Amino acid sequence: MLTLAGLGVSPGVAWGPAALLRQRQPAVRYLIAPPRVAMETGRLEAAREATARQLRAVLAKVAGSAVAEFSHLFEAQLLMLDDPMLVARAKSIIARERINAEWALDRAFDEFSAIFAHVEDAYLRERRGDVADVVGRLRHNLLAAHPGAADFLPDLAAPAILVAADLAPSFAAQIDRRTILGLALETGSRTHHSAILARSLGLPAVAGAAGVTRHILPGTVVLVDGDRGTVVIDPTPEALDEAAARAERLRTRAASARAAERGPALTADGVAILFQANIERPEEAEDAREAGAEGIGLFRSEFLLGARTVDEFDEESQYLVYRDLAERMAPFPVTIRTFDVDESHGAHEGGRNGADLDLERDETASRGPLGLRAIRLSLNRRDAFETQLRALSRAACHGSLRVLLPFVSGVEEVREAKTVLEGAWRAACRGIAGAPPRVPVGAMIEVPSAALTVDLLAAEADFFSIGTNDLIQYCLAVDRTDGRVARLFDPLHPAILRVIRHVARLARRRRRTVAVCGEMASDPRALLLLLGLGVTEFSMRPSAIPTARHLVRRVAMADAQRASARALGLATSGEIAAMLAEAFPGAVAGPGGENDGPLEEDEP
Ligand code: PEP
Ligand code: MG
Repeated sequence: MLTLAGLGVSPGVAWGPAALLRQRQPAVRYLIAPPRVAMETGRLEAAREATARQLRAVLAKVAGSAVAEFSHLFEAQLLMLDDPMLVARAKSIIARERINAEWALDRAFDEFSAIFAHVEDAYLRERRGDVADVVGRLRHNLLAAHPGAADFLPDLAAPAILVAADLAPSFAAQIDRRTILGLALETGSRTHHSAILARSLGLPAVAGAAGVTRHILPGTVVLVDGDRGTVVIDPTPEALDEAAARAERLRTRAASARAAERGPALTADGVAILFQANIERPEEAEDAREAGAEGIGLFRSEFLLGARTVDEFDEESQYLVYRDLAERMAPFPVTIRTFDVDESHGAHEGGRNGADLDLERDETASRGPLGLRAIRLSLNRRDAFETQLRALSRAACHGSLRVLLPFVSGVEEVREAKTVLEGAWRAACRGIAGAPPRVPVGAMIEVPSAALTVDLLAAEADFFSIGTNDLIQYCLAVDRTDGRVARLFDPLHPAILRVIRHVARLARRRRRTVAVCGEMASDPRALLLLLGLGVTEFSMRPSAIPTARHLVRRVAMADAQRASARALGLATSGEIAAMLAEAFPGAVAGPGGENDGPLEEDEP
């Protein structure tokens, strides 16, 4: 048994065999079920044939060119393809060890390399490079015939713990909680999208666990402990028993919290508080309803994209999803945030679904979060934006929909977006008897410039939603995805309280509603402060809602306001946390309140 420490980013415990996702050298390694053996050997054979075709084409080109003397290199590579030590060996490894084709190929190559390493002849030793070249081509062709690494997920022999260096959102979005039990990640932080998704799905997750991809072999039993922030490799039977008992306690607690938290959310002095849900996938609408959410405050529509670019997602498919969501949540509203993705989803290079797809591209195609992202990308890809807004306008005939613009930095973006929406609405009118209803337009407040100009934005936007995940990172200059600076990502920082007070005040004066949809609201201490700062609408992952409602009902708004006023006079988040702990003993356990169970029963 070996325990690796990380950061618990999604509570709970889960254990199972590891499935390893290697992104740097695009390969996935997992055990396969017996009926899958023929398919994996077939994939390898298809990759061999594709490689042979490509090499013959290269050979034909080289033969008639000025570099004809290199022909022998490719002839040799063609021979290597038929060498019993390579593809044939990999096939027998698949059959004997029941592992996927990519992994078996790597194994065969390692054996091949080991032999070359010991030959005396330098010329022959150098030939290892030629074999590596052939293997690279084979790998590439395997991946091309198996586009989107997420395809491997349904093929797992048994539900597994996903072990990876990092998870691209397009991959994370395809995780199915029936096949993935938990996540063990090398990098990441609480507000990384993979962590947010894990919490939404109720999957225990540990991020920042250095070395997991090196120490864990595929198929090894791994225990992910999201409460303690540890990844245990080869846990003892006692450790597994303890984890099972804890998981059962958590399940019972969560169920009783849900049952106890029905009915209107009123503070102890009778102020109505609205709780809506953040979801990433349509099926989570059920979780939202079950948790008592009165609508969807944030549907992260980009999670629908998977590996597609924004212009590859057709109107009809989008319309069906938005309509389904509106119908499922009726009579409550559903807020669809337009795609919050960067250039890697905006590029229409043809290769994304083609032969040169690999996982690394997902990471390198982007130039970072301050580039062509979110509303900026939408306005740059007008056709795709209009498609999304047309789908939304049509779906609005079937329920209450609102549109939320991500990463707004100024008034012009909202104006331009409304012009595109107007065109989309007119187009939607043409296909429908009677005009579809107008969709209210909201702006995310997550860029400091938007926070400072809420009064100006109020002339264009119908409502606001504060995205504290981004607002905090840009106000405090702390990369939310970098676990090394996670301690500096501080929702209780005096600057954050001030900026939220400013937004809430300006919005109130302009009669615009303002919700908080960032993760901050699911921290009980922050929730108390937000209430006191004048925020009465929240959107959070469904599993956090019962705890938050429970807290709200035990707190008088007047007390929350007093606490916020005091907090605004304090200099550090440490002082603010201490003041809250004193003012609301028991209610503010700190981020431990993330555990999704009811808070302690002490009255504030
Ligand atoms: C936010 O930034 O707080 C937010 C809700 O959006 P996301 O986490 O998807 O960036
Ligand atoms: Mg954001």
